[in-house]
Amino acid sequence: MKKYPGADSLTLFIILDAFRHDYLLRAPYLSSIADWHGDVRETFGFISTRPAMCAGVYPEETDLCFEYQFRPEGKTFSPRLCATLEAASKILPLRPLKLAASAWLRATSRNIIARRTGLIGNIPFDQLRLFDLSEHRLQTEPGYLATPTIYDLLREAGQDFSYFGFARSKSPREILRRIRSLVLGNDLLEADRSLVRNYLGDLERHRPAFAHLHFSACDWVGHRFGPDSDEMEATILALDRMVEEVHGQALGRYDRVRLLLSADHGMVGVTSSHDLRRELARLPVSEPEDYVAFLDSTMARFWFFKPAAERAIRQSLDDLPWGTVLSEEERARHRIRFRDNANGDLFFLLNPGEVLLPNYYQATGAPPHGMHGYDPDERDNQGAVLLHGFPGKAVRDTGALIDLVDLFPTLLDLHGLPKPTESSARSLLQR
Ligand SMILES: [Zn+2]
Repeated sequence: MKKYPGADSLTLFIILDAFRHDYLLRAPYLSSIADWHGDVRETFGFISTRPAMCAGVYPEETDLCFEYQFRPEGKTFSPRLCATLEAASKILPLRPLKLAASAWLRATSRNIIARRTGLIGNIPFDQLRLFDLSEHRLQTEPGYLATPTIYDLLREAGQDFSYFGFARSKSPREILRRIRSLVLGNDLLEADRSLVRNYLGDLERHRPAFAHLHFSACDWVGHRFGPDSDEMEATILALDRMVEEVHGQALGRYDRVRLLLSADHGMVGVTSSHDLRRELARLPVSEPEDYVAFLDSTMARFWFFKPAAERAIRQSLDDLPWGTVLSEEERARHRIRFRDNANGDLFFLLNPGEVLLPNYYQATGAPPHGMHGYDPDERDNQGAVLLHGFPGKAVRDTGALIDLVDLFPTLLDLHGLPKPTESSARSLLQR
């Protein structure tokens, strides 16, 4: 293995999706290299983790919080796609129709995320035209946010970076491998193995000063088998070995490697599921004339067009013991006081361990065994974070709870870039 001339230092940013706070102790390599470790609390919602990690911002600063927003003028699903699906759903079975819709999205959508992922979920076809993917660009692209991201700052500094993770374009070989793993019993580690192969292949040709890798197996295994399953134990060990290989190869290539490894969130064991649509169907209000709902797995969001509908739905939700309508104070605590109501007029958050089924990601079948996206203060919703090879004095407060937004200023410190604007996010190296 040879070192590249000039490539003396690498900032390695590794995200282990849904790597719960207590998993670190079960990962022999990771726990042996942690110069500092702690727990990390995610931002409220689902996709809010991406702006938090790459720009240190909370959901209300970007309006990016949930995968979908209420935007009937949106560009993700074309009017032609929506009309065709609505008509076809009356005569064709749902499953092949969804596969065809996903292929159509990949081929024609004006949203790059939809083209890369083909995500169509379980949104009723007659409501598809009302919703739009919240994100319109990849997090690594210029203009992803109004505020600079780590990738914008690296570009500005003339520094090369590599990214392996969500919505990255795949080679035909990778797509074939993925299909084969799905057909042969859904190998949930295949995507991460492929990520490691791609990163190591890239290291042969390329010497970026910054690399960001996002592993997803813990998330998939946690949803499917549960956060305390035997399958999860095996996945933690497999990921530990993968990170060891990546880290070891990087240490052999560069004089210095500064590693920040973190979860984006944890995983809560699911105890029960609820059919909110059945509750709503009892009310003297109708969708989409009086209101519209979006059923995320751990919450429901509502948009109201008539005051009577809002009254009836609030009253009904208040009577349900397994969730809470978020108050103004709770919205302030979660930093979700948005500029407009595209994310919702009302947020109904489920208690930890409860899920909605059906929801707009899952129509039928058994409930998942694990879920995240609860109150970020819920202990098991929190993840693990560690530092290795950082410069300067040791960081105090091992075991402390940090916020996901704190990763961004920490990365800037590790990499020697100035922090662009004042924010409440605090670097781990400045404590
Ligand atoms: Zn997940």
